[in-house]
Amino acid sequence: MYDLLLKGGTVVDPSQGLNERLDVAIAGDRISRVAPSIPEGEAAEVIDLDGKIVAPGLIDIHTHVYHPGRNWNHPDVAGVRSGVTTLADAGGPGPADFADFCDYVLTKAQTKVYSFLSVFRERSVGGPPQESHMDIAGVVKIALDNPDVVKGVKVIVAPRMVQSLGLKHVEASRRAATEAGVRLMMHIGDIGPRGQTPTPSDVTTQALAMLEPGDAVTHVFSPLTGAALDEKDRLLPGLVAAQERGVFIDTSYGDFNFGWERADAALAQGLKPDTIATDIEIHAGDGMRKLSERGLLEYASYFLALGFSLEEVVRMTTTAPAAFLGVQDSAGSLAVGREADVSVLELREGRWLLADAKGVSRVGTQALVPALTIKSGRVIHPGEPLHPWGWTPPAASE
Ligand SMILES: [Zn+2]
Repeated sequence: MYDLLLKGGTVVDPSQGLNERLDVAIAGDRISRVAPSIPEGEAAEVIDLDGKIVAPGLIDIHTHVYHPGRNWNHPDVAGVRSGVTTLADAGGPGPADFADFCDYVLTKAQTKVYSFLSVFRERSVGGPPQESHMDIAGVVKIALDNPDVVKGVKVIVAPRMVQSLGLKHVEASRRAATEAGVRLMMHIGDIGPRGQTPTPSDVTTQALAMLEPGDAVTHVFSPLTGAALDEKDRLLPGLVAAQERGVFIDTSYGDFNFGWERADAALAQGLKPDTIATDIEIHAGDGMRKLSERGLLEYASYFLALGFSLEEVVRMTTTAPAAFLGVQDSAGSLAVGREADVSVLELREGRWLLADAKGVSRVGTQALVPALTIKSGRVIHPGEPLHPWGWTPPAASE
C-alpha cells in the first residue's frame, strides 16, 4: 500500500530520460514506483494530475534567505511555497554568523537548505571590506564540521570588493574551498552604484582562472560591466576555458543580472548555461514576502522563450544543480528509492511579458507555474504568489 499516488501527470525527469504520462507512487518519504498505470486502490491518497508536469523537486543554487541581523525572512517562500524543494543560500553567513544561520533558517525551513559561506568572518560589518575581516580557517572548520549543510564558498568579483582588495578575497575563498573540499561559487558583474569604476575584463579573467572543475560562475547573462562579455560583447576567453574544464555556468538573474541582448550574444558565441537560479532576496518585514521580482519558475519561462526545451529547463533546475551541490545521489531525480521530492508544475500558454534588467521585454508564449510541491513525501500547496495576479509573468497586451 502506498501513501500517495500522483496520477496521470506527464513525468519529465531528465535523470531517467523520461518525458511521458506516468503515475508516481510514494511510500513514506520515498519514491516507490513510477509506472504507466498504478491502480488507485493501492494508495491511501490519490491526486489527479492530468495535464500537469511532474518533475523531480526543483533546486535553486543561488538564493539569499539569510541576512545577519535581519533574520525575519522565511526560506520556504523561495522554497517549497514556490515549487522548489532544495535551495542554497549564497554567501549569507560568514564563520561568525553560521550558528545564527542554523538557528534562524535551518530550524524553520521545510525546504532543504544548503549554505555557501562567505570568507568574511561577519557579514554585517560596515565600511570597505578588509583583509583582516577574512577568516579562511574559520570557513574550513565550519565546512568540515557541517558537511551536510555547507556545500561551498561564495565570492563576489565586483567593484566594492575589487577596489579594496584586488583579488585577495578571491584567493582566500579559493584556498578555503580547496582546504575544505567544497565548491567555489563566483559572482561576476559590477553590481553597485552608478559611476563606479568598472572591473576590467582582465581582472574578471584572472578571477575566472581560479575556478576549478565543479565550481560555478554566476550571472553570465548580466548586462552589467565586468561580467561574461567584454565591452564589445565578446565572450571572455576565460569563461569559455572555464566551461571547457567543467566549471558550472549559472545564469542567476536577481534584480540586475539578465539582459536579452547579452543572453543572445553569449549563446550565439557558444556559451552553454548549466543551471537556472534566481538570486532571490527574501527579507521583507512580515516574514513571508520576498522583494525580488520573480521566482525560479517565472525565470525558467525566460529560458523557454530563449528556445530551450522543457526537458532542458527541467535538467537545468534538477540534475545539473544537484550535480553542482554534489547531492546528485539524493536529489534531482524521481528514481525509485529516492527521497520523495516532487515539483508539480503547470505550463500555461499565453502572451507573457518577460522583462530584463534593462527594461527590454520579450513576449513568451509559455509560462511555468507551481501547482503542488511534495517534500519528503509531504504535500505542500504553493504559498501566496509573488504577484497580485498570481504566479505567471505579467500578461502582454494583445
Ligand atoms: Zn546573489
